[in-house]
This record gives sequence, structure tokens and C-alpha cells, in this order.
Amino acid sequence: MSDVTVHCQRCEARCKVDDLRNPDAKMLRRSKESWGLCINCAVHDWLRNTYPPNILLAQSGPKILLYPHIQQQFTDIMRVACADARPAEINWNIIVENWELPFPQKIKPSASNPCSQLELDEIASGKRPGLGCLGPVTPDPLGGKTTITSFEELNLLEPGMGDELKRTLDRTKNTRSPDDGQK
Ligand SMILES: [Zn+2]
Repeated sequence: MSDVTVHCQRCEARCKVDDLRNPDAKMLRRSKESWGLCINCAVHDWLRNTYPPNILLAQSGPKILLYPHIQQQFTDIMRVACADARPAEINWNIIVENWELPFPQKIKPSASNPCSQLELDEIASGKRPGLGCLGPVTPDPLGGKTTITSFEELNLLEPGMGDELKRTLDRTKNTRSPDDGQK
């Protein structure tokens, strides 16, 4: 299996089918079939299906993903969720470059994601307000800082968003099976 190469269903990048899968992986699972998304598209797929990162990204655009501390937060999420993928495999520049490519599957609203594709599209195009009341924030709550390094700063930017993200991350941790870490 491991020498089979396939093309990503979304960006057509060549990827390897790897049979070394972690059965406990909660995100970015390796595909056992010879089809699926490449790692970069899979990361974007996770982001667009996870609230509130999906709303945050619809509002801000994908460029914030190029900030190292945002990437670090994602790496932390991958660790607690036992992701199959390794952070070094992710190419954030490609994710941002390919941001507008369509996905073969639509966003699935779920308990952890109340947003539909339509809502995210409308937020991205400015037709619908995002979380809370957006519009130009004056005065700038971050005093000109362009990087967010804590949940508290996220709260300053958008009341409640940092708390919501923290809750989502805690839920991700809590969905690990109880025997994790004992093997
Ligand atoms: Zn891809």
C-alpha cells in the first residue's frame, strides 16, 4: 500500500497512501482508501468544519494562518487530538494559496459547528455580520498589534470568541478515549 500515489481530490497534489494509521487519531486521519485529501486540504477542511475557527477565518481571510503562533496553536490542537499527520508535513503557504479552491464535500453543520457553507460565504463576502458586531473596530482593542497570542486577546478582538475557542479545544481534549496515554 505505501508506495501507491494518488491525487488529492481537491488540489490534485500527489500524495502517498500510507498504511501506518493511528486508530486513535481524532483529526487529520490518514486515508486507508486510495482517495481523499492531501494534508494541506485536510487541514483547511478541518478548519472550515470547526467552530469558531471557521467564522474567524471567514472574517479575517486565510492570511492569519501564516502567523507562526497561529500555526503553533494548530500544532497544539493536533497533539491533543492525536492527529495522524505531523505538523512539519503542513505547508501553510499552499493552504492560503489554494484557499478558494472548491471542496468535493460541503461543510457539515454539527454539534461542534453550527455554521453552514452559506453562512460562512456570506460572512466572507460581508453580506452577513460575523460573531458579534464587526465593522471597523475603533479604537483598536489590540493597540495596533497584528498578532494574537492568547485567548484573552481574542476576547478583546471579539467578546467571547477566545472563550469559545478555548471551550472547543477543551472539548477536543475531552473526546480522547480514557485509556489514551497509557499505551
Ligand atoms: Zn489537496
